[in-house]
Amino acid sequence: MKLHEYQAKEIFANFGIPVLPGKVAFSADEVERISQEIGYPVVVKAQVHVGGRGKAGGIQIARNAVELRENALKILSMQIKGIPVKKVFVTQAVEIRDEYYLGITVDRQARKLVLMLCASGGVDIEEVAAVSPEKIAKVHIDPLVGLHDFQITKVIYGSQVDLSKAKEIREIIRNLYRCYMEVDASLAEINPLAVTIDGQVIALDAKLLIDDNALFRHSDLEQMREVGADLDELEEEAQDLGLAYVHMPADKRGPIGVMGNGAGLVMNTMDEVARAGGKPNNFLDIGGTATAEVVEKALLHILKDDMVKGVFINVFGGIVRCDVVAQGLIKAYERLERKVPIVLRITGTNEDIARQMLEETPLQYASTTTEGAVKIVELVGKG
Ligand code: GDP
Ligand code: MN
Repeated sequence: MKLHEYQAKEIFANFGIPVLPGKVAFSADEVERISQEIGYPVVVKAQVHVGGRGKAGGIQIARNAVELRENALKILSMQIKGIPVKKVFVTQAVEIRDEYYLGITVDRQARKLVLMLCASGGVDIEEVAAVSPEKIAKVHIDPLVGLHDFQITKVIYGSQVDLSKAKEIREIIRNLYRCYMEVDASLAEINPLAVTIDGQVIALDAKLLIDDNALFRHSDLEQMREVGADLDELEEEAQDLGLAYVHMPADKRGPIGVMGNGAGLVMNTMDEVARAGGKPNNFLDIGGTATAEVVEKALLHILKDDMVKGVFINVFGGIVRCDVVAQGLIKAYERLERKVPIVLRITGTNEDIARQMLEETPLQYASTTTEGAVKIVELVGKG
């Protein structure tokens, strides 16, 4: 389970990790009221489950009410990586001297936890890890033994943090580890861990993932769970329509719509599209007992994304009859406002009839998943 920054900060505060006072807000009025209460300057931060909010414009500093209205309030009507911002965290703004990265997570290969500290924090820790991994000081923690003081010393001296802040950083690391273990986290991250110009060390951002398998012993945390908090608009609509639809992340999505019956078959179809050099736009499982109506509804839904320039439909007719699916599809195609190429691979009961029905239509038939994938990529391009 992912927690929002404001939720993670509340938990961090309970473990003695220094955070700045702030409140969550759902409307412009609330943002203004809280800003006055906290006192300017304030930072307004989008609360969405995606990283890189700063770069996307989802974090704004306001020195007064005018700036707040000019910049910060627009965050509430933004989308970040396709996810609409429904709430913001309003918090005290500070002047930053240094930004560090501090994190604890599971190192699966080592079968241990790993504690990481890096003096070049803030944004883009992934880039630091790729370009100059030696800048990140790491120690492995055996969870049965716990975190030793010498290990903390090792990361503090192994990174290039300001050693005059070693005492404060040590305390924060101890508390972060305690928090990590007690809430059954799988990731606890502070990026940036900031040193302010007046020398305070503060968690300016907070990321906490809780192991879902441990939620049964954290009823207080389970209440923080939000169903659908990380859905984009089309995913929300799909939920209302009763469709099992996943929109690929904005930076990875391509022009090929994909649907099929059965999650495994759909995933396999997406893999084949990728293998043929194409880029899927979505995942859509119409389920085992898909009717003609569902096929039509699903097709219309996939095409709501203008980026989709063709659709590959992969149906195994075990429970559903192929001719019924084909009939639904032909009707749906006639009604389509935006007619894109469609490839249908359909096998199983009444396959021959389905194939014959499609012959006089603009729909393309494929007899295997691979063939269908190659065909749709030919028709749509690699995107
Ligand atoms: P992220 O982009 O989603 O990781 O959001 P962060 O909370 O890490 O904020 C991104 C950047 O915004 C930070 O690295 C800071 O440089 C800046 N920032 C966040 N809070 C403050 C603040 O209180 N004061 C100042 N001056 N900058 C801030
Ligand atoms: Mn951050």
